[in-house]
Amino acid sequence: MRRFSFALLILPLLLSAQTQPLINRERATELFLQLVHIDSGSENEAEICRFVVERLRELGAEEVFVDNASEKIGGTGGNVFARFKGTVNASPVMLSAHLDTVAPTKGIKVIRTETEIKTDGTTILGADDKAGVALILEAIQTLRERNLPHPPIEVVFTIREEKGLLGAKVFDKSKLKSHYGIVVDGSGEPGDLIVGSPTHFRFEAVFHGKAAHAGVEPEKGVNAIVMASEAISAMKWGRIDEDTTANVGVIEGGQAMNIVPDRCKVVGEFRSHNPQKVEALVAEWKRICEQVAQKFGGKVDLTVDKTFDAIRLSPDEPIVKAAMKAVESLGLKPKLKRMGGGTDGNIFTAHGIRCLVLPTGGENYHSPNERLVLANFYAVGEILVRTIVELAR
Ligand SMILES: [Zn+2]
Repeated sequence: MRRFSFALLILPLLLSAQTQPLINRERATELFLQLVHIDSGSENEAEICRFVVERLRELGAEEVFVDNASEKIGGTGGNVFARFKGTVNASPVMLSAHLDTVAPTKGIKVIRTETEIKTDGTTILGADDKAGVALILEAIQTLRERNLPHPPIEVVFTIREEKGLLGAKVFDKSKLKSHYGIVVDGSGEPGDLIVGSPTHFRFEAVFHGKAAHAGVEPEKGVNAIVMASEAISAMKWGRIDEDTTANVGVIEGGQAMNIVPDRCKVVGEFRSHNPQKVEALVAEWKRICEQVAQKFGGKVDLTVDKTFDAIRLSPDEPIVKAAMKAVESLGLKPKLKRMGGGTDGNIFTAHGIRCLVLPTGGENYHSPNERLVLANFYAVGEILVRTIVELAR
């Protein structure tokens, strides 16, 4: 009994020593608040680019530049790159987050409580992904001021991520020496390590029929809407299996009640964690579209574009092992997860930089209810710093 109560006394002390925060929580929060007060909708990143460039220089980056991405993809700023020397001779690691937000945040009214940061509900908060940007900057500052061992670090802050990972797509990946990276842009609990993300295809099918008066001579027409609907109903949609989903998202066509429509456009997507499965779906959809067009005596123009490639990390890859150790060092249980969406990590992974995605501590992304849960934000900051330190071992 005596021994038991002694254990109860000593355990919290042991735990608190183990989880002593490395990051400066108040400084990270202040930085996040500064970032959310800079409006950076997806066309308007110039000001936030200037802000992070200045911070990266203050942190002692040996090289900082802003690329000319906006000339190719629109927007104002550019992708921001910075390189930091390592303290050990280890393989470099890339850290990445995006600077744009899904909607403008002009006139943002931020509410900070003991436990969270949110807005008054008139705009989004922009924790997606300014929480990721703040954590990366705070992690680098922590490593430097505490003299923690770390590999060389390459930072990429992208623009126009919310418009389809555009900034990452045009960034010159030959600048990067890293073979693995951490993208801080996910959702979930601290300890969630996102090791899987699907391959994604977008399609646009335009069915061409023949216009005719619907009452006088319908026989002379070929109904493009009926053609599209037959093709759609021949295909399976929704959740196809545990890896794979398919969706018809947009359908438009027709001019008037009494005209046989000569054109109908269908837009949709296919995703799968298994690249073969998604390619099989694309092939099936192509076959169905062509068969139906032929049957009706019409025509179909189908364009299918791969938006991004899957991420599939295995538990024994160095970046995953390092992050698992970091999570365990905080007394948390690492959970390897898959996400249904894509991040810049999909683009970098396709270029040989194998990316782990960490959550940011944010919730309800892309909505006016978006909020940052401070305890989770701090915990991810600890995981990030400790993962980078592990990579130096
Ligand atoms: Zn994001």
